[in-house]
Amino acid sequence: MFKRVVVWFRNDLRVHDHAPLFYAAEKAKEVIPVYCFDPRNFKKVSLGIDKTGNHRARFLIEAVDNLRSNLQSLGGDLVIIQGKPEEVLVSLAKKYEAEAIFFSEEVTAEEKEVELQLEQNVWKQGIKTSAYWQSSLYHIQDLPFPVTQTPEVFTQFRKECEKFAKVQAALPVPKKINLPKNMSDLGDLPKLSTFGLKEPDLSPRAVLVFKGGETEGIRRLQTYFWEQDLLKVYKETRNGLLGANYSSKFSAWLSLGCLSPRYIYEEVKRYEKERKKNQSTYWLIFELIWRDYFRFICKKHGNKVFQLGGIKNNVDKWGRNKNHFWKWALGQTGIPFIDANMRELNETGFMSNRGRQNVASFLVNDLGIDWRWGAIYFESQLIDYDVCSNWGNWMYVAGVGNDPRENRYFNIMRQAQNYDRKGDYIRHWIPELADIPGFDIHQPFELPTSLLKTYKIALGSTYPHPLVKYKAWI
Ligand code: FAD
Repeated sequence: MFKRVVVWFRNDLRVHDHAPLFYAAEKAKEVIPVYCFDPRNFKKVSLGIDKTGNHRARFLIEAVDNLRSNLQSLGGDLVIIQGKPEEVLVSLAKKYEAEAIFFSEEVTAEEKEVELQLEQNVWKQGIKTSAYWQSSLYHIQDLPFPVTQTPEVFTQFRKECEKFAKVQAALPVPKKINLPKNMSDLGDLPKLSTFGLKEPDLSPRAVLVFKGGETEGIRRLQTYFWEQDLLKVYKETRNGLLGANYSSKFSAWLSLGCLSPRYIYEEVKRYEKERKKNQSTYWLIFELIWRDYFRFICKKHGNKVFQLGGIKNNVDKWGRNKNHFWKWALGQTGIPFIDANMRELNETGFMSNRGRQNVASFLVNDLGIDWRWGAIYFESQLIDYDVCSNWGNWMYVAGVGNDPRENRYFNIMRQAQNYDRKGDYIRHWIPELADIPGFDIHQPFELPTSLLKTYKIALGSTYPHPLVKYKAWI
C-alpha cells in the first residue's frame, strides 16, 4: 500500500475504465490526479502550422475541465499545470511526498521520450513509476502475437484478434478519490489565448456541436445508440457526409480518451442483447479494430510512420509546392468536393471518413504533394486527432503504409457521384454555389458566369484550375 500516488492523465481524460486511477485508488491512501499542458504541443511546426490548432485546443481544454468536475464528484480534484511533464511532475511528486506516479502508456516517439525522461528523473528521486496499457480495445498482453509480429495486413490482424483474443471488461469508476488534505493551488484551466490561439467561431453549418469531455462523450453514445437507435443502421449510413447521425462521431472523444473503447464495446454488446444484433452492430466494432490496428502498427514500426518513405521505405516521388498545398488546405482548389470538405474541417475541426479519404488522395495523387504535409495539417486541425490513426491512414492513402494495393486513387468525380449525387453536401458548405442545380454543382467547368465570378476567389487567379491533372475527369 502506498501513502500517496500521483496519477498523470494524458490522452485518457476520463474516470471510467481508467487503469492508473482505478489502481491508484486501490493501492494508495491518497491520490493526486494531474494534467500537464505541455508547451511543446502548442508550438509552430513545418509550414508555420500550429501543432495544435484552435478547434483541437478548445476541445482539449473542455475535456480537462470536465475531468476536473468528474474527479471532484468522486471527492478528488485535478491539479492543472503548464510545463514539461518530465520536469513538473517530479517537482510535484517531491513537494507532496508522493511515492509513485501512475500513468497510461503511449505508443509513438514524442510521447515515449517524455515517459523515458520522466522515469529517469523520478528514479533519481527514489519515486516509482507504473505505466498501464489502456488505449486499445484489445489489451496489448492479449494479442495473439508479439506486437513486433503484428500482421501488416488489416484483415489478418482482425481475424487473428477476433479468433484468439478477448476484450477485457472495462474497469469501474473508483468509488472515492482521497486527495491529500494539504493540497493548495490546484492551478487554473488555461485559455486559448494562453497558447496564442484565437477562440474559434462556432460554425452555424457544423453537423454537431462537439464539446470535449467524458460527460459529453457518454451523452453522445447514449443519443446515438439508445435514444435515436442508430447503431442498427450504422453500416448503411457510415459513408455519409452530412449530418450528425450518419456515423457515431465517437472519434473526438476516443482521441482524448474521454470514451474508452472497451466501454463502447460493452454498450454494443448490451445493445445487441436488448435491441438488435446485425451487421451494423458488428461493423462498429470492426471499425474500432481498425483503430487498434493502427496503434499496434505504430508500436511495431516506431519512427518509420513519420518518415517520407513510410513503412514501405518507398522512394521520394513527392512535390513540395507550397502554393498548391495552401490552396488545398484552405479549400481553394476549385474542385467543389475537395473544397467543401476542407471548409468543413477548417470551420469545425471535423470531416467525415469519406471526405478524409478523398482530400488525402487528392493531395497525394492529384497534386503530388508530400503526404506528411497533409498529415501535419490534419494534426493541427482535427478535434479527433489521434497520432496512430492519423499517420497510419495518411501512410495508407499515400501508398507507403499497409495497403496491399499499390495505388489507392480516389476518382473525385466518381466519389462525388456516389456519395453526393444531388450535391447537398456542396450546397451546405459552399453556399455561393447553391443555385446550381443537381450534380452540376460538382463541375467547376460548367459554372454559370455569374457564379464563376464569385467562385473565382476560390479558384485563384487563373481558371480553369491549372494545378491538377484532372484524371478524374477523363
Ligand atoms: P465511425 O464510422 O462511427 O467509426 C467508429 C470509430 O471507429 C471511430 O470513432 C474511430 O475510432 C474508429 N475508426 C473508424 N474508421 C477508422 C479508420 N479508418 N482508422 C482508424 N480508426 C477508425 N481517425 C481518428 O480518430 N483520428 C485521426 O486523426 C484520423 N485521421 C485520419 C486521416 C485520414 C487521411 C483518414 C483517411 C482517416 C483518418 N481517421 C482518423 C479515421 C476516420 O476517418 C475517423 O476515425 C472517422 O471519420 C471518425 O468518425 P466517427 O467517429 O463518426 O467514425
